[in-house]
Amino acid sequence: MRNKFATGPYEPKKCWVGESQKICYATRDEAEVAARVAEYEHGISGLGVYKCEYGDHWHLTGSEERESK
Ligand SMILES: [Zn+2]
Repeated sequence: MRNKFATGPYEPKKCWVGESQKICYATRDEAEVAARVAEYEHGISGLGVYKCEYGDHWHLTGSEERESK
């Protein structure tokens, strides 16, 4: 039988950056949209995006990293 759970509809890729896991966005546009949504939902501003140095994808920068250090 086929396992339908093996390929879920959409689960965000993540990668480890330092000691935290960050969501990977395939494109800069996708990351920027996510940043705007996060700003709206959390009432914050100044989120940015940057290209991951470990792979061909993008991450958000800003409040996500508040916990570090
Ligand atoms: Zn990454």
